[in-house]
Amino acid sequence: MSFKLANQVIEELQNHGFKSYIVGGVVRDRLLDRPTGDIDIATSAKPEEVQRVFPNTIPVGIEHGTVIVRHGKQSFEVTTFRSEGRYLDFRRPSEIEFHESLEADLARRDFTINALALARDGNIIDPFGGKGDLERGILKAVGTPAERFQEDPLRMMRGIRFVSILGFRFEETTYSALVENADLLEKISVERIRDEFEKMLAGPYCEKALMLLKKTKVDNHLPRGPFELQLQPDMYRWSALATVEEQWAGFLVRNQAEDPNEWLLVWKLPNQRKAKVNRIVTLVRSEIDFTCTYTIYKYGLGDLQASIRVKRFLGKQVEIEESELEDRFSELPIKNRAELAIDGNDLQKFFKQKPGPWIAEYLEKIERCVIEGKIDNTPSGVKEWIEKWQRPQERD
Ligand code: ATP
Ligand code: MG
Repeated sequence: MSFKLANQVIEELQNHGFKSYIVGGVVRDRLLDRPTGDIDIATSAKPEEVQRVFPNTIPVGIEHGTVIVRHGKQSFEVTTFRSEGRYLDFRRPSEIEFHESLEADLARRDFTINALALARDGNIIDPFGGKGDLERGILKAVGTPAERFQEDPLRMMRGIRFVSILGFRFEETTYSALVENADLLEKISVERIRDEFEKMLAGPYCEKALMLLKKTKVDNHLPRGPFELQLQPDMYRWSALATVEEQWAGFLVRNQAEDPNEWLLVWKLPNQRKAKVNRIVTLVRSEIDFTCTYTIYKYGLGDLQASIRVKRFLGKQVEIEESELEDRFSELPIKNRAELAIDGNDLQKFFKQKPGPWIAEYLEKIERCVIEGKIDNTPSGVKEWIEKWQRPQERD
């Protein structure tokens, strides 16, 4: 994301007489010297005015004051300064009010470290002491913490996610409000909690966040309820995990989930993600020898490498390095059954027999031999081997 382009958007708004600043998480990340995601811009211009200033805009959330400005092939969310009225359904504020001043906009934000604005001249606007909290590593709600968590309980999960990502700790009153209002998380949709939880799983201080979830008893109010943690926080190496599926697998093995699939169902993971996590957990818990050629073929590179990383996370010995696994996989004569030189039809013709379970059985035998280098994967190679191998009916 380019600050140079964002500044051009800001200048353009200023040229039209509107105030405008870079705001929110991106300012926090910039002060922490961390890579930033999207650059959000806040302005005194109303959405229609933003649309008039820029030739290329997308009205994504006009009713919330947000317009996407396309500039230099990048997108910037430009949102009118606003405050939020009451939250009726724990989802979105029931009414919002546009403002002329930046301060009201910063006051509606969740934590002081997220309530910062960056002006075009490099000045930081910091009405709530967010900069000091960033330096001290403190998460403090803007305003009265209990009220802010009651307005939008998801903020509690956001806070815990920041503990995991930044290693920060909660300021005292904010911490008490978290403990007292944790049950309100039950009002929030599983999907929204899950998204924050997954961001938490990706943080380098995830262990700290998990301990906090237990200590505050917030975990009682998460989908599927509380989880078990054996207290060995120094043992787990979250940084060894590379994907969200590995992080879920790590979490489930870490908390000794008896039935991982049940957890994933309740947490409403998309099917593909769920299936991958299940496969990883099964492999990690199995006694399967990852160095065996047929195992490498059967489970495939992706699942095995993921499982190796989860084993590393658990402090377990791995029997094969990822790079060696890659070499072994690339040396396999075939990568899946479709690459076999013959198929079930060929077998049927060859043996002049009715189809039946014998075909799958026979193919598997051929497949194994091809992978182990005992048969050449060519039609003649396979036929030659079949001539020597017993015919299916003779085995019965
Ligand atoms: P990330 O690094 O994940 O983008 P972020 O803090 O930037 O973290 P966003 O969802 O991008 O999170 O939100 C941008 C900003 O909007 C936040 O920094 C914060 O100021 C404000 N914000 C987001 N969600 C909330 C919320 N639930 N309540 C109050 N303010 C919020
Ligand atoms: Mg952001």
